[in-house]
Amino acid sequence: MPQGMPTGCINHPGVEAVARCRQCSTPVCNACVVGGPTGRFCSFECREKHEKFVKDAQGCELGKKRGGGFSRSLRSLASSAVVLGAVLLALGVVCTIFEVPVLSGLTRTVRGMIGF
Ligand SMILES: [Zn+2]
Ligand SMILES: [Zn+2]
Repeated sequence: MPQGMPTGCINHPGVEAVARCRQCSTPVCNACVVGGPTGRFCSFECREKHEKFVKDAQGCELGKKRGGGFSRSLRSLASSAVVLGAVLLALGVVCTIFEVPVLSGLTRTVRGMIGF
């Protein structure tokens, strides 16, 4: 076996590894390897971790696809709220600058609403 090549089994240093754990990259021999639907692993713990990781990743993808329409409508709602806020702010600024007596009541109301 060439020096510096981590091809020996982690549990049996003299035995050549046949696979690397998909979770932690540990080399393992034929006797130690743990097979699973998502690959080959050094231990049952690693297999469980990797399966959980794969499931989480898939769940994330599904969640993103489902949430797409909802977040889009939320964004348009947020942008219309921003526009409304800008209009109120502009109205408040205009009333403040010109101090129209007739509008002073309205000015106070708008100022109160936007916290001037
Ligand atoms: Zn492992
Ligand atoms: Zn082994």
